[in-house]
Amino acid sequence: MVHASLNKRPPVRKPESAGRPRVAVLLPLPFPGPFDYAVPPALTDLQPGDIVSVPLGRRTETGVVWDPTPALPPEFTPPPMKAVADGRLKPVISRLDQPPLPGALRRFVDWVAAYTLSPPGMVLAMALRTAATAPVTPTTGWAVAEPPPDLRETPARRRVLEIAASDGPLPGTELARRAGVGTSVVRGLADAGALRAVVLKPAPPFAAPDPAHCPPTLGDGQQEAAQSLRDLAGTGGFSVTLLEGVTGSGKTEIYMEAIAACLERGRQVLVLLPEIALSAQWTGRFTRRFGAEPALWHSDLSPRLRRVTWHAVAEGTARVVVGARSALFLPFAELGLIIVDEEHESAFKQEDGVTYHARDMAVVRARLDRAPILLVSATPSLETLANVGAGRYRHLALTARHGGATMPEVRTIDMRAHPPERGLFLSPVLTEAMQATMARGEQAMLFLNRRGYAPLTLCRTCGHRLQCPNCTAWLVEHRARRVITCHHCGYQEPTPPTCPSCHAEASLTPIGPGVERITEEARATFPDARLLVMASDTLPGPAATADAVAQIARREVDLVIGTQIVAKGWHFPHLTLVGVVDADLGLGGGDLRAAERTVQLLHQVAGRAGRAEAPGTVLLQSYCTEHPVMQALVSGDFASFMRQEAEQRRPGFWPPFGRLAALIVSADTPEAADATARALGAGAPRGDGLQVLGPAPAPLAILRGRHRRRLLLRARREIALQPIVRQWLERVAPERGARIDVDIDPVSFL
Ligand code: ADP
Ligand code: ZN
Repeated sequence: MVHASLNKRPPVRKPESAGRPRVAVLLPLPFPGPFDYAVPPALTDLQPGDIVSVPLGRRTETGVVWDPTPALPPEFTPPPMKAVADGRLKPVISRLDQPPLPGALRRFVDWVAAYTLSPPGMVLAMALRTAATAPVTPTTGWAVAEPPPDLRETPARRRVLEIAASDGPLPGTELARRAGVGTSVVRGLADAGALRAVVLKPAPPFAAPDPAHCPPTLGDGQQEAAQSLRDLAGTGGFSVTLLEGVTGSGKTEIYMEAIAACLERGRQVLVLLPEIALSAQWTGRFTRRFGAEPALWHSDLSPRLRRVTWHAVAEGTARVVVGARSALFLPFAELGLIIVDEEHESAFKQEDGVTYHARDMAVVRARLDRAPILLVSATPSLETLANVGAGRYRHLALTARHGGATMPEVRTIDMRAHPPERGLFLSPVLTEAMQATMARGEQAMLFLNRRGYAPLTLCRTCGHRLQCPNCTAWLVEHRARRVITCHHCGYQEPTPPTCPSCHAEASLTPIGPGVERITEEARATFPDARLLVMASDTLPGPAATADAVAQIARREVDLVIGTQIVAKGWHFPHLTLVGVVDADLGLGGGDLRAAERTVQLLHQVAGRAGRAEAPGTVLLQSYCTEHPVMQALVSGDFASFMRQEAEQRRPGFWPPFGRLAALIVSADTPEAADATARALGAGAPRGDGLQVLGPAPAPLAILRGRHRRRLLLRARREIALQPIVRQWLERVAPERGARIDVDIDPVSFL
């Protein structure tokens, strides 16, 4: 075909095949790699990235024309697939009218697949989000046509024709609205031939943010950091920078300047937030700074908005995207900057499907797009600090809160010395401080990272504990909803009136507090206080969260009680006291990062206090006030705490000084789980710098009715785990009804 040779880009026909022209097509399905298809004569100009329709068995599937990723280290490359003979090749059916998947995104898909040991098609599925790739359906508008001679005229019809002539073409509903008539009038005119249909070009859904709209006046300490970031983002090229600064120091304010520089350079920006509930407040700030809204991306977008956004990102009309981790897989046309806010958050780790850490993969994406990336946190992860220490990442620090606001004073309440009254959970020291704060007209907050009324319900007569029938977990009472529920599998039943085991009446007793129970106690102690509860199950979405935050800012609330959602980057100017109900809570699990995570979370909560003029106080209720975590929170010296953490992990080659891969066996029966786990244990890799821990029953030994065992492979940092794990899995076949999931760089050890 002539036009194919006019096209300067080389066609994707494989050079080594002298036979029929063929292309590799990656399908969003769990196959080990792309399949070859024949190129029909009408499609000889197919290019890598083109989205195509192909036959698969008797079905038709949507896939992407694929090309090999040269940058992939050879030991990460999956084994080659068996070549299909020319005669058995099926042809590509058609090319879809879609923007192609950009090269950097194709490389990223291959990279994530290789790193996480996932089938590349499953990673592609995240990038395609099938709904997103359907074309944006064009709207039909109506314009006046040559009026037919026999047209019956009415006043309504005349108004429609006048407006169509002056303002048209317009969509039917809009035309009817402006003419003040029903849509049937428009339809009648169209049927009569007096209006003709015109395909309307959709207006760009996202207005362009203006970097000069409303720049801030930066403080002394801020200016230098902002200038460095502006330089980085304005020049481009891959680099990683940690932006570290105490809560309220103006990190967000400053990275907005990096966004401005990137926009001035004509590139797109991606901002990842750990929790989409934060997006409403973030969007407000962004809009004030740039005079236009960013594009939002998260799993709750309507299918239409998802499609529109996907296309706008691909075409470059969406300049700034703020989203949850899945936004990493959007088809940016010209990505120029990535920002990962609250980079230490474990919410960036996706735990099901393809398990990947969005912060780490964001660094990979930035490298592939040759863009700078900023990791932002008040309490950076040990991983990131180690990269700074090794000189791989740059480091910018802000040391003071903006505008003279001071850091809150943090104190512990030793619960052994100042216990609450029997059956209660708040120490008198804390309730007195709350009383005094509210009496001054300031706001107080209670934080407890546990939803529901009580984490455990026990029968006082026989000792029976209410347990999930599907999981190794207690059922959590939610008193307001009158149910007990499993926080792991979602199982739920009405709270039983009597003990299900011994049938004793009025014998079931809640053990320990959840936020509901703390709310009950606070209500009894402070009957006049205006209370607001913020928990993920009481706030159904970002809008409700934003509304709650606005109520607090307007001082319509005296006391806020919440789970981890209150810890996020909110700005509460009138909040001066934070009480942490159980500061020891996160230390119990005992995994590798328990102490680090507790410090990060509680520091984040503490950071909600005293962000404006009035100084803040934070009180930590603890039964082990001498614990290094409590001491770090009181002194505010996180650098020393993190150095101690590092020294504890270094000798054993725990991350970030070594690498981990978890293998999780799950099976229908305990026997199948054990047999598979034993086989993995017997086939475990051996070698210098390698160690396999387990198999052992997982802490969640049964989850959703599946029996679980875990193994952990630990290696020195210089050893790549992927090829070792790949070969290990090739040696072991799971038993019937069993499967093996791999979690590279695990965060959860349940
Ligand atoms: P962080 O992200 O470090 O917690 P923020 O960027 O949210 O800090 O800043 C904390 C508060 O101080 C916000 O209300 C922000 O608007 C305000 N702020 C910070 N820097 C400035 C500035 N240069 N001018 C005006 N307000 C600022
Ligand atoms: Zn369960």
